[in-house]
Amino acid sequence: MTKNYNNRGDAARVAIQRDPNAFTMPKNEKGQFCKISDYYAENVFDFRTSKSIPESVRREMIEISQTGRLLTEEYAAIVATAVTEWASQRGVTHFSHWFQPLTGGSAEKHDAFLAFTEDEKPIEKLSAKQLIQGESDASSFPNGGSRTTFEARGYTVWDLTSPMFIKERGNAKILCIPTAFISYYAEALDVKTPLLRSLSRLNAEATRFLNLIGDKEVKSVMATCGAEQEYFLIDKAFYYARPDLVMTGRTLFGSLSAKNQQLSDHYFGTVTERICSFMQELDYELHRLGIPAKTRHNEVAPGQYEIAPIYREGNLAADHNQLVMALIRKIAKRHDMVAILHEKPFKGINGSGKHLNWSMSDNLGKNLLEPGHEPHQNHRFLAFLSVILEALNRHAEVLRATIATHGNDHRLGAHEAPPSIISAYLGESLTGIYEAILSGASFSPSAKQALDLGADQLAHLMRDNTDRNRTSPFAFTGNKFEFRAVGSSQPVGFPLCVLNAAVTDVLMDSNEFIEAELKKGIKIEEVLINLIRKWYGNSKRIVFNGDGYSQEWVMEAEKRSLANNRNTPKALKALKDEKATQFMVKTGVLRPQEIKTRHNVLVERYNRCREIEISTFVTMVRQFVLPSALNYKLTLAEAIKRQKEIGVDSFTEKDLIRSLTTTMDFLYDQTNNLQNLIKDLESDEERRAADIAEKLVPISENIAKLCNELEEIIPDELWTLPKYYDMLFLN
Ligand code: ADP
Ligand code: MG
Repeated sequence: MTKNYNNRGDAARVAIQRDPNAFTMPKNEKGQFCKISDYYAENVFDFRTSKSIPESVRREMIEISQTGRLLTEEYAAIVATAVTEWASQRGVTHFSHWFQPLTGGSAEKHDAFLAFTEDEKPIEKLSAKQLIQGESDASSFPNGGSRTTFEARGYTVWDLTSPMFIKERGNAKILCIPTAFISYYAEALDVKTPLLRSLSRLNAEATRFLNLIGDKEVKSVMATCGAEQEYFLIDKAFYYARPDLVMTGRTLFGSLSAKNQQLSDHYFGTVTERICSFMQELDYELHRLGIPAKTRHNEVAPGQYEIAPIYREGNLAADHNQLVMALIRKIAKRHDMVAILHEKPFKGINGSGKHLNWSMSDNLGKNLLEPGHEPHQNHRFLAFLSVILEALNRHAEVLRATIATHGNDHRLGAHEAPPSIISAYLGESLTGIYEAILSGASFSPSAKQALDLGADQLAHLMRDNTDRNRTSPFAFTGNKFEFRAVGSSQPVGFPLCVLNAAVTDVLMDSNEFIEAELKKGIKIEEVLINLIRKWYGNSKRIVFNGDGYSQEWVMEAEKRSLANNRNTPKALKALKDEKATQFMVKTGVLRPQEIKTRHNVLVERYNRCREIEISTFVTMVRQFVLPSALNYKLTLAEAIKRQKEIGVDSFTEKDLIRSLTTTMDFLYDQTNNLQNLIKDLESDEERRAADIAEKLVPISENIAKLCNELEEIIPDELWTLPKYYDMLFLN
């Protein structure tokens, strides 16, 4: 069997004949299968639970990690020694500060656990200093022009709130230390630093809010996050035969197979043996890393899947999601597949998102977005919800900017994804309650039962009305919000951080409001009602319970003057608007320079990604599409010529060659056009981005149509690139 699959036929032969790579669950010494609890978090070192760290040190360290007090080298040395011992026993030879620069991925640099004693004896060692801080060249990471090489020093700083873990690469094992990445002037050069700031600011303001309204026993509040991850899997043979997938992560063109997702037979369908074996191994590896993978299933599109974890504290969830993405990719290869995390790998079928489930929970374990069974809880719940609505109302455009990527541009507003208009879904019942509170009237639910918010009706009502809306970018789903417009390939840290900052902003105003009202002697339940009226009254324009995919909503949203920033360059403008981003500065989550850096990095990233797409496209048209078309043309020409020699008329062949020629000429012309336009683009990155989005992307979409027309008329055997049919169905 050939292993050389650089064209469609070879690739198909390899893919069809593969034996599923079975994954076998490990057994213990007694020969019994291991249970999840046997290996859960076996590759994680957490000083909070490690038995090799003295109790007193552990308690101090926990206190330090919660309060941000300065960590002494003495304590760090104890942890460093313990983790070195722990890791060395497990075959780990190197350690690495693991961080998330603004590349969208994670970064690492390995150092051996190697030092020498005074008499030159080699020993395993990680010093306190090496644990706490590392140094790296910040100018080589995306920095939006904010770092010149002469001030390039960047530092990685140990994040005490996210446990260390072992990364396995073949036979190599590396101890990863989660770190923040900052400059000499403590400027955040990564995703984690502002996220950590936002979590602690949200904690402070939400705790203050609860204390003010009488929940005095609450000491802290954390944002909780569960990131559902969608992805595609295709056989590796097809992947490597499609330069566009390798270079850009998506198919730049491709004719949709007759059957795709119309029958809704893939969603929650039976998971095939091959895929299940992959998922089993993925869950196993995630569990060993202490990542609580919970749900797995087939998604809507053929070849599309989803994994969802049990939610965790925001920072940990963000780190976990980075590892989930990395492991999906890695384990897929073990099964001779490639995972595609792009937001829109195949046109015409569903793209992939990452539903960012978000809520807040206090130190007593109460979910603040859970309606309760007594009046105070209900008022608190409605108040928190109204705060979030107001946060969305004020900061929709900046939130939209946090999910703006070239990949997500193909998804937002397409028929299966939330639109680029940011709105919130509450459902009829909750909206009814808010409207009733706003107008001072009592609300009658459909059961014709008056709602006085006095008893536990709200909890019942919500339970009975867990209506869903898949078309909303920001949907309330019973006890949490689901930010559904986030792209599948992006780190959740940035949207999460801005969401936290937006809510913190409104909480700050709420706290002032409550204090002032209480001073006037108004009772707390009435203060809460006043607060709910204030925020809901302000923000009801962003509440939309209807079909977010419909054209009517686009028109309605315009009437409500909601922004509809359809593409990345438009959406990113919000990050340049000082008034719009002021809340991030005010809440201390990002400094003006840091916002500027992010804006520049995102614009540049958009441009570079699009440029790669365009040059890949031009090459593919010339090296694959046109040559296939030419081969067919020659076949037709030969047939016409021979038939003429024997006096047979060749109507069909002539018709085919005419339409083939027309399409080829168009394609050739448009491709040259695209190549010239890209050469002439302005060097100013923002104007360049706008031109790419407004002019070049539409042309490349046109080119894709022409390629698809050719794919549809050219004989199957002459088409050298894997088709959607192959990639989505031959596995
Ligand atoms: P749904 O049926 O709405 O999809 P699930 O319970 O299946 O709800 O949860 C979907 C995702 O939401 C999971 O990743 C889960 O961990 C997360 N999630 C559930 N509750 C919360 C919460 N309070 N805060 C953050 N995420 C949550
Ligand atoms: Mg969900």
